[in-house]
Amino acid sequence: MTLRIVPLYPELLSIYADRGNVRVLEQRARWRGLSVEVAPLALGESFDPERADVVLIGGGQDRDQALVAEALIAQAPALRSAIADGVPVLAVCGGYQLLGHRYVDQSGRDTPGTGLVDLETHAGPTRLVGNVVVDVELAGTRHELVGFENHAGRTSLGAGVAPLGKVIVGGGNDGTGTAEGCLEGRIVGTYVHGPLLPKNPWLADQLLAWACEHRGLSTTLAPLDDHLEQAAAVAASTLARSERR
Ligand code: GLN
Repeated sequence: MTLRIVPLYPELLSIYADRGNVRVLEQRARWRGLSVEVAPLALGESFDPERADVVLIGGGQDRDQALVAEALIAQAPALRSAIADGVPVLAVCGGYQLLGHRYVDQSGRDTPGTGLVDLETHAGPTRLVGNVVVDVELAGTRHELVGFENHAGRTSLGAGVAPLGKVIVGGGNDGTGTAEGCLEGRIVGTYVHGPLLPKNPWLADQLLAWACEHRGLSTTLAPLDDHLEQAAAVAASTLARSERR
């Protein structure tokens, strides 16, 4: 059986090399001997919930988000169906914002979102830019998420929505340096670019395990030699901590 990775609108939403997240999932699956298909969804195409095992959506400039919003909202019912069937989603920055009800940018443009997660984003007066470290507990294990952020948006989570983690270094969802991202079932939303997954292989493998479970494959992933990934994560964490804002 083939594991299907579906990046949404990567031609428009893949700022700061977020497409690297797709490559990491693909390669870490192949290194385990899994058959993998990467099927990007382009504007004008319909998302097929029967042909997706993990969905990714990257970040973008305000204008890119506005270009994508209408098409993405039209896919929301099918995305909701896939999510209900156990398909994991990784949404980064602009893609994360579009998971919510709306994104109001610094010009006041009000871009509607999919409403897949109860959150809302309004741009603040400044951009939150810099290296970040986030304390994350995922599937019962604590991890340090590292990367960088560059967003004007300030995201507020609905009462029943948990953050992905607690900010150690960085602005977080709203610039207060407290909560970062969201974790709603198997939906992972985050402001962390990098791309995110090369330096956070534990998150890549969690997404892969969920995708394998959805596809009826074994969720026991053979360990990989992640010494380079871990060295990169330590370097990123050390740099971020040295710059503590
Ligand atoms: N345009 C959005 C913002 O500025 C998202 C930016 C991004 O995806 N890096 O908040």
